[in-house]
Amino acid sequence: MADLVTPSHFRWAEFRERLDEAVRLFGCDGTVFAARNLLVAMGCDVEGSLDFFSRETCSNCDCGILFGVGSEAEAAAEELGGADVVPLRGRRN
Ligand SMILES: [Zn+2]
Repeated sequence: MADLVTPSHFRWAEFRERLDEAVRLFGCDGTVFAARNLLVAMGCDVEGSLDFFSRETCSNCDCGILFGVGSEAEAAAEELGGADVVPLRGRRN
């Protein structure tokens, strides 16, 4: 059963970091091309996750996911004391 990638998923930080890198390198072309590729590479629920993102952001593109998903959820998790601290790996510059 493939996982739905949401801000509460344990690999969210990894997904977000890789998406951030892709958008900075290639820009956003107004599609979820990079997000879709990442979800496929991570073996997660591609359509389910993209569905969740479009509901969360009311947009359908990579930068919309980057800037629209997670900040509120992360703040809420922090309030509950449940936010995991995930070290940034492989960050360049
Ligand atoms: Zn965009």
